[in-house]
Amino acid sequence: MRVRIPSVPYLNRLRALKVRVRLAPSPTGTLHLGTARTALFNWLFAKKEGGTFLLRIEDTDLERSKDEYVKNIFEGLNWLGINWNEPPIIQSERVNEHKQIIETLINKGFAYRCYASESELDEMRETQKKNGLAPRYDNRHRDLTQEQESNFIKAGREPVIRFKINDQKLISWNDLIRGKMNWSGKDLGGDMVIARRAPADSIGDPLYNLVVVADDSSMKISHVIRGEDHLANTAKQILLYEALDLKIPIFAHTPLILNSEGKKLSKRDGVTSISDFKEMGYTSEAMANYMTLLGWSVPDGINERFKISEISEVFSFEKVNKASAKFDWDKLNWLNSQVIHEMNPKTLLDNLEPLFKKNGWELPSKEWGINLVELLGPSMVLINDGVDQAKPFFEEPTLSTDGKKQLEIKEAKQVLNFILENLKKSYSSPIDDTEAVNLINQATKICEVKKGLVMKSLRVALFGTLNGPDLIKSWVLLSRFSKDSSRISRVL
Ligand code: GLU
Repeated sequence: MRVRIPSVPYLNRLRALKVRVRLAPSPTGTLHLGTARTALFNWLFAKKEGGTFLLRIEDTDLERSKDEYVKNIFEGLNWLGINWNEPPIIQSERVNEHKQIIETLINKGFAYRCYASESELDEMRETQKKNGLAPRYDNRHRDLTQEQESNFIKAGREPVIRFKINDQKLISWNDLIRGKMNWSGKDLGGDMVIARRAPADSIGDPLYNLVVVADDSSMKISHVIRGEDHLANTAKQILLYEALDLKIPIFAHTPLILNSEGKKLSKRDGVTSISDFKEMGYTSEAMANYMTLLGWSVPDGINERFKISEISEVFSFEKVNKASAKFDWDKLNWLNSQVIHEMNPKTLLDNLEPLFKKNGWELPSKEWGINLVELLGPSMVLINDGVDQAKPFFEEPTLSTDGKKQLEIKEAKQVLNFILENLKKSYSSPIDDTEAVNLINQATKICEVKKGLVMKSLRVALFGTLNGPDLIKSWVLLSRFSKDSSRISRVL
């Protein structure tokens, strides 16, 4: 009998079934750009492999975790178009399981209670520093006798729980981005704390490395994709997986995002949260597009301008750089302007209308709004530019310095007087394109001036400045608000 060899797509699907990735944000702040980029890489990978993308809220730091940040994280991910496939896991709800695992580690001799006080630990680190050594826990309470331990308890000391780290141990993994990684146990700072201080007959709050291993394992995470600032944590976590006899996931460490000075992007750079970018007028499409490019190079023949929903098929970790990614405002702005220019006017208006409303600006009609965004769209880089540019249509403009100078030109007032008189006398209100062109031509001819002077003076009278979108179209729109005559008379 001939053996049927499965086709490649079938094999792909089999492989894909296993992929389960997660984003594990701590809700101690708003959704950070770096976290959002990690989310994107996880999401793209899951999508490509037909896998599952999960969310875990790491809220074990109860003091710093806030509901408003959880909300901000959900909103930010939704805004970017990143959806998760199962209800989010709330880490703090799993604390009993975490404590049970710690107990197992203690019972099996992998972990122990350390009674060293903070001042003793400070002193230890000071001495190490004086001797030119890197600060590390010197494992001083690893092998306490029962008597020593009960003396500490009698003295009222509260222990932390530490996991033993063998200095001689070599830890290796094949990182999907960074290749073969090797860590030595001696570089991990000595036995690590896995639970906070608490009375010796209990277990204190479990800490990051322990809970991550417990949760990634219980969530059956196949690939842990996170920032390279977690490399040392990965080495520690591998030791925990081994001690607990749990399946070790595959790791991929994404490059850091640096600012233009080559420093880690931080709050000092002004904007670091996804909601800040939204507030500034960046579109979700451009943000998602740009963040995917932060560390990932598109394969040959693929345009850098894409929708994330279309790019997952060509996404791979082979094209994720090891080197840090530099945040490039020009590129983000370019992508954002592309997105805005490609937007249909109705969508652009949908984006702008709430911002207009915030300023108390009401559209005379939907059609007027569409005409306005058709006029402004081509010069917009940010959504918010549309608000700035629309302002003189809704509010009386203040005259710019150049504008004032323009009106001081001898013939300017004569021209404007002519336009105003004729506007009232012989033109319909609102004025239309042909009429506007005619009136400008007439003013040029009758006042015997250059057309440029007419255009500039009229623009200043209507909108306060010398620059702006197409004057005829702008005038026609303004006149539908019946504001043109009053604005001209105001400067005369
Ligand atoms: N809560 C951690 C963070 O936000 C998660 C890191 C991880 O993915 O394991 O950095």
